[in-house]
Amino acid sequence: MAFIIDGKKISAEIKDELRIKVTKLNEEGVNITLAVVQVGNDPASSVYVGNKKKACEYIGIHSLSYELPEQTTQEELLALVERLNSDPEVNGILVQLPLPSHIDEDLVIQTISPAKDVDGFHPQSVGALSIGQKGFVSCTPAGVIELLKRSGIEIEGKECVIIGRSNIVGKPMALLMLRENATVTVCHSRTKNLNEVAKRADILIVAIGKPLFVNKDFVKEGAVIIDVGMHRNANNKLCGDVDFENVLEHASAITPVPGGVGPMTIAMLMNNCVESAVRKN
Ligand code: NAP
Repeated sequence: MAFIIDGKKISAEIKDELRIKVTKLNEEGVNITLAVVQVGNDPASSVYVGNKKKACEYIGIHSLSYELPEQTTQEELLALVERLNSDPEVNGILVQLPLPSHIDEDLVIQTISPAKDVDGFHPQSVGALSIGQKGFVSCTPAGVIELLKRSGIEIEGKECVIIGRSNIVGKPMALLMLRENATVTVCHSRTKNLNEVAKRADILIVAIGKPLFVNKDFVKEGAVIIDVGMHRNANNKLCGDVDFENVLEHASAITPVPGGVGPMTIAMLMNNCVESAVRKN
């Protein structure tokens, strides 16, 4: 039976550590502010934004909230981002994605100052990660690394297979696992014999966006499985990209959904905000 990696507990530990750090920074006169921008009122985005604000409040980060109407123009949004870039009080800028289709997401991301890019999506942040320089790292993959390390799972020298090559999860995940000295294989929709490739993995990271896609036929006996996927099933219950019950007997450790990778994303966002303030000062 696999060991269940408790993302809820680990993310709570990280938030408690950050809270202590922020209290000390406040005593030294350093205050931290995150600007959260949402365009439109997509219900899922509103939940994510609400959770981020709650986490800020817990840790002692001041959050500025910009709830803009759906019909906000690209120019108006870019002007707001520019204003936040030049506001010395603001340490981090988060523009909640997805944006309405009339706004160019890439352009908005590129307009955020790399010094305040706490989501780690700016091309400069991605470039820094790929050549091993300091910069903000995309929160979900950074959270996966913390989950592994804090669960005592060794990464160095391990075969790691990542299913998914998106810019926000798969690709930065591969770079981070390389940085930790794993041997990395990245799979995608054109990969042949996917389950055979996945079976090579000591650590299998799944970010494919298809509910319950990975079953025991993809899992080497004793592998560690990290499930990044997040879906609601027909009964409105959360599930991941991995068929948890089906692989449980075959894995040595696994993240559940909910309560695995999900809570880590916000914890790492908070970490990036604190990091931004520390770097500035
Ligand atoms: P995405 O942009 O849709 O990327 C999915 C990736 O999976 C693509 O690279 C795609 O390959 C690959 N893929 C799709 N079907 C495949 C198949 N049959 N065989 C092999 N590869 C296949 O998704 P994402 O943004 O990375 O998100 C992935 C999942 O993670 C989603 O469920 C999302 O909700 C979840 N997520 C969770 C968090 C969190 O905080 N927990 C954060 C972000 C995302 P191609 O490149 O060839 O198309």
